[in-house]
Amino acid sequence: MSGVVGIKSNGNISQQLFYSLSSIQHRGQDAAGIILSDGKDLNRIRGMGLVNEVFANEDLIDTKAEIGIGHVRSAPEGANKDYNVEPLVSFAKNNEFSIAHDGNLVNYYSLKRKEEDIGMAFHTHTDSELILLLITRYYEGDIVKAIRKAMEDIRGAYSCVLCMPDKIVGFRDYYGMRPLTLGWDENTTIIASENCAVEILDIDNYRDIEAGEIVVVDKDGITSYKTDKEIKAKHCIFEHVYTARPDANIEDVNAYMFRRRCGEKLYEQAPVDADLVCPVPDSGTPSAIGFAQRSGIPFAAGLVKNRYMGRTFIKSTQKEREIAVRLKLNPQKSVIEGKRIVLVDDSIVRGTTSAKLIKRIREAGAKEVHFRVTSPPFVNPCYYGVDTPHKDNLIASKLSTEEIRKQIGADTLEFLTLENLTSLTKKPKDYCLACFTGDYPIEPVEIEEI
Ligand code: AMP
Ligand code: SF4
Repeated sequence: MSGVVGIKSNGNISQQLFYSLSSIQHRGQDAAGIILSDGKDLNRIRGMGLVNEVFANEDLIDTKAEIGIGHVRSAPEGANKDYNVEPLVSFAKNNEFSIAHDGNLVNYYSLKRKEEDIGMAFHTHTDSELILLLITRYYEGDIVKAIRKAMEDIRGAYSCVLCMPDKIVGFRDYYGMRPLTLGWDENTTIIASENCAVEILDIDNYRDIEAGEIVVVDKDGITSYKTDKEIKAKHCIFEHVYTARPDANIEDVNAYMFRRRCGEKLYEQAPVDADLVCPVPDSGTPSAIGFAQRSGIPFAAGLVKNRYMGRTFIKSTQKEREIAVRLKLNPQKSVIEGKRIVLVDDSIVRGTTSAKLIKRIREAGAKEVHFRVTSPPFVNPCYYGVDTPHKDNLIASKLSTEEIRKQIGADTLEFLTLENLTSLTKKPKDYCLACFTGDYPIEPVEIEEI
C-alpha cells in the first residue's frame, strides 16, 4: 500500500508536500520521499521511516520549488529496502521524469523479463520503475500520449503522480482500483490519494480522478484527458472498509459513514444480547459506534491503544506480530470485568489480532466475547496493492466460520455478508470484491514472489 501526492502552487511546495504526505501516512509507514522542481531540475529527498523522521533534518521551509510530488510506502515482506523508496527518477530524451505509484501491476514480472531479455537492468524491485521506463520510452514530447501508450502495456492497479520539471500529471488505471483525488483553489492544485491531503491545505474543492483519466497540471492550468475506452469500474471496496482514513470521500462514499452503517447492518444481521460494544481501535471504532447506536447497547472503550506503535499486521514473523498486538492494544479491566462484550473489528486476516485480543479480554474478566466483523471472510489474497499474506495464511481460506470462532475463542462470531457490505455503496457493481469472492477483475496470472 502507498500514498501519493503531487502539488503545483504559488505557496511553499515543500511544506505543503510535507503536510499532505503526513496526512496520508496511514497508507504507508516504511518509507517516504519527495521530488521538488524549481522549473528546470528535479531534486529528491527520500528515506526509510515515517514522514516526520525522513524529513526531520531537512530544512524544507527554505527549499524553493514550483511543483513537486511525494510518496509514502508500506513495503511487502522482503522488499523494505532503501533502493525501492519512491518517488523514482529517470533521465531520458533530454528530460527528467519522476513517478510515485500506489497499486500493483499483475504483469510486472513478464514485462520485466521482456526488458531483461533485451539487456535492461533495473535499479529497484518495484513495478513503479517499469511504469516509468515505459513512459519515458514512449515519450516523444507529449506526456499524455506516452502515458496512454504505457497504459496499453501495463495491467493491474495504479494511481500515479508523475512529475516533469514544468508539470505534474495524475493518472488512474482503467478500473479505478486505488483512489486518486484532484483538488484545487486559486493558488494550488493538488493530486493525492485521499481528500485529507487536499483538505490539510485548506482546499475545499476536490473530485475523484476517474478510472482511465489523465490530468495534467502545468502553466496552462488543469487539463483532463478522459479515455474513449468503455470503463468497467472496479474500485477497491476495502478502501471503504479499512484502508482509507475515516474522513475519506471516495466514489461519493464517506468512509466514516460507511463504517458506521456497516456496524448498524451487522447488528440487524446478527443481533446479540450484551452489556457493552467495544471497538478494536481505530479500525473498528466507527462500526462499533454504529452497532451500539442501532442496538442500544452502550459503547465503551474496552481496549486502550498505544498510538506510537505502527501497524501490527506488517511485522514479518508470527511471533513479532503477536508481541506487536500486545504492545498496541491493552484491555481496560475496569471497563470489561464481569461484562458481556461485543467486540467489533473491520476484518479477520490471519486471525492473530482477534485470537490474542479475545484471550486477553477474557483474562481481564469478560463474561462473554461476541466478535463482529464488518467485512466478509477474507479468503483470497489481494494482487492489486493491499498487502495481504499468501492464501495459506488467510484463516478463512481454510476454516469455516464456526471453526474460526473456536480458534479465536469467541462465544459467537459473525461476518457482515457481501450483500450487506455492497448495499452501502452507491454503485455495488462497480467494486472489486476479489478478496472475499475470488472473482478477480484482472486475472493475476503472472504473480510471482519477489
Ligand atoms: P489479522 O491479525 O491478520 O487477522 O489482521 C486483522 C487486523 O489487521 C484487523 O484489526 C485489521 O484492522 C488489520 N488489517 C486488515 N488488513 C490489513 C492490511 N492489509 N494491512 C494492515 N492491517 C490490516
Ligand atoms: Fe481491494 Fe480486495 Fe480487490 Fe484487493 S482484492 S483491490 S483488497 S477489494
